[in-house]
Amino acid sequence: MTLELKNELTYAGRYLFRDNPLLVGRVAAELAANERRSPEELDAIGQRKLHATLQRAIQVLPYYRNLSRDFSVAEARDALRQFPIVEKATLVANPTTLYPHGGAKKPWEAIGKTSGTSGAPLTIYRSPTSVLYEQEFIKRHWSWGGYRQGMNRATLRGDLAVPIDRKQPPYWFFNRYNRQLILSSRHLNDRCVDAIIDRLAEYKADMLQAYPSAAYTLALYLAKRGRKLDIPVVFTGSEPVYGHQHDAIVGTLAHKIMDMYGMAERVAFATQCEHGNMHLNQDYSHVEILDDNGNPTDDYGFVVGTTYHNHAQPLVRYRLSDRTRWKPGRCACGRPFPMIEEVTGKYEDFITGSNGMAVSPSVLTFAFKYARNIKRSQVAQVGQGKWEVRLVPDTGWSEADRELLMHNLRTMVDAEVDVDLVYKDDLPNTAAGKFRWVVNETT
Ligand SMILES: [Zn+2]
Repeated sequence: MTLELKNELTYAGRYLFRDNPLLVGRVAAELAANERRSPEELDAIGQRKLHATLQRAIQVLPYYRNLSRDFSVAEARDALRQFPIVEKATLVANPTTLYPHGGAKKPWEAIGKTSGTSGAPLTIYRSPTSVLYEQEFIKRHWSWGGYRQGMNRATLRGDLAVPIDRKQPPYWFFNRYNRQLILSSRHLNDRCVDAIIDRLAEYKADMLQAYPSAAYTLALYLAKRGRKLDIPVVFTGSEPVYGHQHDAIVGTLAHKIMDMYGMAERVAFATQCEHGNMHLNQDYSHVEILDDNGNPTDDYGFVVGTTYHNHAQPLVRYRLSDRTRWKPGRCACGRPFPMIEEVTGKYEDFITGSNGMAVSPSVLTFAFKYARNIKRSQVAQVGQGKWEVRLVPDTGWSEADRELLMHNLRTMVDAEVDVDLVYKDDLPNTAAGKFRWVVNETT
């Protein structure tokens, strides 16, 4: 099957399921109403959803078999404290007790994949309901930026819009079901970028969804050519937006940036409003900010989240490596959701691939999240068009796994970059406890 036909079927299927008004209408109305509720009403909704999740976790995950289900809705938050904090390593170490049905996925469950901040692949099972909710939370954020369904949307993220080695336009795929122009971020290079800019200009996008690194690369090309695109808003996610990226994007590519914070585990979701504040979507999940000892703090701490909507694999008190702090007060936008400071934790260097093309760290994750048996990894730029991929293999690592990873790099990231694979016993954090998954050692 060609990639074009595959894309056609994928996006038609997604539209029928995720954007079908009959299926999503109720969820969309619920989320729109939540935005206008009082903090007390939202609190009561949260308490009910938390209670359902905790009950479900004890029921379906053997990891919690010793915990009591004897607590009421009003006691849900107290009951939460009997749950231990878990993290990615806990999930990886307990594949039969922290995954439902002993780790055997049911046909109706979707799969989420991430390579996270340590470059080790992780899989999460998702219920159809949670997939629907996720899409509606994202759409609610888009509405904050003035975007409504049916308007023209463009996407510059990790989608494999066209084969990576394509040398002629189109470097995009038009998903007619959602009026979505999906641009290939792998073709943001000297040879192909003009065709991409022309297509985007002609398309008159009402918004662009983008990785900040990809939007930044496009903005630099625009500036070099003395061109501008008048896109009303860029919705960013998956990576932090650095100051220099923000300044390059606003005014050249778009009028404003609205960022969102989320992750494959889907235990926390924050969205930036028109006043620039990050609002934690309180109806998405239960979020705690905990210090190194696991106690709540008003200072900077780890983001620890409990899902409300994924009852296929209910993640409870899941600790991310991201850190932030509660921001006191109410926002001028009037929304009832609490505010958090900028989230820190995931910093990657800027690297380039073959022909000096900028490579987004998020695009790079595709090669790793579809790989197997990797405990930890790191991608280092060691020369012009030359990368060193450092791996701590897991038990079970084989020649087939090596071939799969190399194949993924060639087909999902960069077809021509020179890659050396180096095995390591360990890839330690820096003295400050940080780990940089993508490093540029040539600067
Ligand atoms: Zn606000």
